[in-house]
Amino acid sequence: MTGIAQYGTTLIPYMVQYRVRRTLGIEVHPDRSVVVLAPTGIHPDLIRQCVMRRGTWITRQQRYFDRFLPSRTVREGIADETWFYLGRRHMLRLHKVAQPSVKLTRGTLVVHLPDPGDRAHVKRLLTAWYHAQSLERFSDVVLMALETMRVRHPVRTPKLSYRTMARRWGSCTASGTLVLNPDLIQAPVLCIRYVVLHELCHLVYHHQGKELFALLVQVMPDWRRWKERLEKNS
Ligand SMILES: [Zn+2]
Repeated sequence: MTGIAQYGTTLIPYMVQYRVRRTLGIEVHPDRSVVVLAPTGIHPDLIRQCVMRRGTWITRQQRYFDRFLPSRTVREGIADETWFYLGRRHMLRLHKVAQPSVKLTRGTLVVHLPDPGDRAHVKRLLTAWYHAQSLERFSDVVLMALETMRVRHPVRTPKLSYRTMARRWGSCTASGTLVLNPDLIQAPVLCIRYVVLHELCHLVYHHQGKELFALLVQVMPDWRRWKERLEKNS
């Protein structure tokens, strides 16, 4: 079941999961979603009142997670724009050539296409190129991260999938698949490694609790630095 609670001028949408439990519990997830764990049979009004009462805490948690959401600097696909690749700035160069292609040469991203003024085509070519690069690079980062992880904790090799997510850099599904946002390819390698190690830790500890962070600091002592760098990345 879902509901919406009014907290001051803010509307808080929430999802309800009924459980065999006696009290109401509220979770705020990194994607800002709110989940209420409710005893079976409780009246929806009581749930909404509880969400309203916890409004201060919920909105504070959401603001905290907002800091870590991928910011999107909109790029138009025009010449001389700056595009990031592995944390480095690259100037966009467009050339009128019949056969479309994308190449990285000495700090520039060179796009060949029939009509350099066709911004949508430029962006499609770059998105496909970034995606191809992320397929290649991320699997290397995952292999190295697994090696580091296995020194501390036996984890099996997770399935890897890619998904452009508006509000996350990565996630680990309940079935143990590692989902990575291809846009991460714009960030420095150590930021990618941080996201991968964070999600690998979720293979061991599902919840975002102190055990997870204790393991994370073991496998990447300076993880906070790369998390902050990721926030400022784009
Ligand atoms: Zn997490």
